[in-house]
Amino acid sequence: MSTLVEPASSSQLLTDQSVAKHLLFGSVLGQNLFPYPAISERDRESLGLIIESIDKFLSGKADDFKRWDRAAQQPAEFIDELRELGLFGLVIPEAFGGLGLSNAAYARVLSQTSRYDSSVSLTIGAHSSIGMKGLLLFGTAEQKARYLPRLAAGDMIAAFCLTEPGAGSDAGGIRTTATRNGDGSWTLNGSKLWITNGGIADFFTVFARTDVTEGKVTAFLVEAAWPGVSRGPHEDKMGIRASSTTTVSFSDVRVPPGNVLGEPGKGFKVAMAILNNGRTGLGGGAVGGMKAILSHASRHALERRQFGRAIADFGLVREKLAQMAVDCFAAESAVWMVAHYIDSGSVDYSIEAAITKIFASEAMQRAAYEGLQIAGGSGYMREMPYEQMARDARILTVFEGTNEILRLYVALSSLKDVGASLADVRHAVAAIFNDPIKGFGVLSAYAGRRLTQAVGRADTGFAERLAPPLRPLLAVYQRHALAAARAAELVLRRHGHGITEQQPALKRVADVLIDLFVGLCTVSRADAMIRAGEGGAGPVLEMATIFTRQARRRMMGNVRSMSRNEDPDVDAVAAAVLKDGSYRWDVY
Ligand SMILES: Cc1cc2nc3c(=O)[nH]c(=O)nc-3n(C[C@H](O)[C@H](O)[C@H](O)COP(=O)(O)OP(=O)(O)OC[C@H]3O[C@@H](n4cnc5c(N)ncnc54)[C@H](O)[C@@H]3O)c2cc1C
Repeated sequence: MSTLVEPASSSQLLTDQSVAKHLLFGSVLGQNLFPYPAISERDRESLGLIIESIDKFLSGKADDFKRWDRAAQQPAEFIDELRELGLFGLVIPEAFGGLGLSNAAYARVLSQTSRYDSSVSLTIGAHSSIGMKGLLLFGTAEQKARYLPRLAAGDMIAAFCLTEPGAGSDAGGIRTTATRNGDGSWTLNGSKLWITNGGIADFFTVFARTDVTEGKVTAFLVEAAWPGVSRGPHEDKMGIRASSTTTVSFSDVRVPPGNVLGEPGKGFKVAMAILNNGRTGLGGGAVGGMKAILSHASRHALERRQFGRAIADFGLVREKLAQMAVDCFAAESAVWMVAHYIDSGSVDYSIEAAITKIFASEAMQRAAYEGLQIAGGSGYMREMPYEQMARDARILTVFEGTNEILRLYVALSSLKDVGASLADVRHAVAAIFNDPIKGFGVLSAYAGRRLTQAVGRADTGFAERLAPPLRPLLAVYQRHALAAARAAELVLRRHGHGITEQQPALKRVADVLIDLFVGLCTVSRADAMIRAGEGGAGPVLEMATIFTRQARRRMMGNVRSMSRNEDPDVDAVAAAVLKDGSYRWDVY
């Protein structure tokens, strides 16, 4: 991350406010966007050393990573080396033997490991972002003292066990059960699917149906060594092949009372808080992957000659490289803004975190596609890095919440407050938002409070403090926030309580919010860099301008499509395909 101007101090930040929710009321919450947050001195110092040792450790291993991808495993000695480097203790407080990195610094570390190999990031990331994050967020002092030192040292590797064969996006459908015994212990039975680190983990955060009076799902801390815990074989995957993915099963596993994580019956709250808090790890990894592709592709473009010239001379190749850089800059700006929210104690950042996951994962997939395209036929060959990167990137839009589910979450959670403010639909909307997506309804609990009282606290002076060339860009987002607010109100008035079934409309709302939030983060970061004199390091204004113009075209299209679209035709075609189960329009 670049050095920036003075940080937006935590006191300026409105920690109980969501930028995305304000946007759907037509307002840009300046305090939470400007100036762009600077990296702390402490992070800067520790990051320097960590990144240097990561580079030293991973840079000579390209052939190993390729071999381990084919063999679909990371050797035990390599995991030992990750332990020795301290990479399992990144986010664990120093008091427990970890490095105590902030969320921002942690995301930066994952972006560095992802430049070399995604499976390495997965092994470290599944441990820190989701495997033991629940213990950090919800663990008692006793639980932390018992487990964190071993987790920090990597003596215990952690995994997160939510998904089951019948419960993927619909996490409410889990069938694993935990029954409370007379002595206060629990008996755990069931099977979890596709668990990252499943084959190497010693510590599982497990979600089970408990049906206690306090709620339906409870989170447990479970040790792999306990009787009744078993794991299946390593899954043969498309990408991130060397990272461990297995089933994990529990057969009459006795869980002591002291291993309930959080409150009994509040397991969904725990699961969603972990996933929200961990999203910047995935975003950081995607940013690192994009940087790696950009380096490979630009080198190839300069070396490869066709028609007597380097292909880097051709406009269509240059366009791809520029787009990758713009996407990477935008994703990086948004990911580290959200990391700053988390580090500053924000409580209402889940929509913005979901936005960064959606944007960064899709930007990474576009970069993997275009990087391979620039390399041409050689990009398709396994000796080059592109095909593995394309395979590895494919998972990013699927796990930690599919991008479809996250778009619905972004839209519904942001619309909730708009709905509540519309007197004539208030009651109907409030009722459905208690369960916005069947089985995913728990997420609505995270949607924040109404904004009416908060709008009065909004800072409106930030526009005048912005570097002058960026002011027209900010105006684009301000105009489109107003347009989005009008469109959101229209959509809600039109569909009322039927809004949850209007997925194409919700997708448009989410896409406008993604462009608004990512674009504003991009402008904020460009502002900080220009004012700190870093604009000279590259065409920062140009990148912010490109993103804004592209975003404006997308936003105009999405807002317009909220009232005029071909949704009924799309639905008719889908219905025909589903009815026949095939394509029925052969030429012959
Ligand atoms: C390599 C890998 C590693 C994983 N690691 C872990 C892990 O460590 N821990 C863990 O608990 N899980 C893990 N998972 C599981 C992962 O989180 C799930 O695959 C993901 O949540 C999606 O669930 P699903 O695969 O059952 O897809 P489904 O839920 O069946 O979805 C299939 C498709 O339907 C769409 N869809 C579903 N419902 C809706 C809806 N209401 N509206 C619109 N579209 C919808 C989805 O977006 C998707 O496109 C992992 C998966 C993989 C492949």
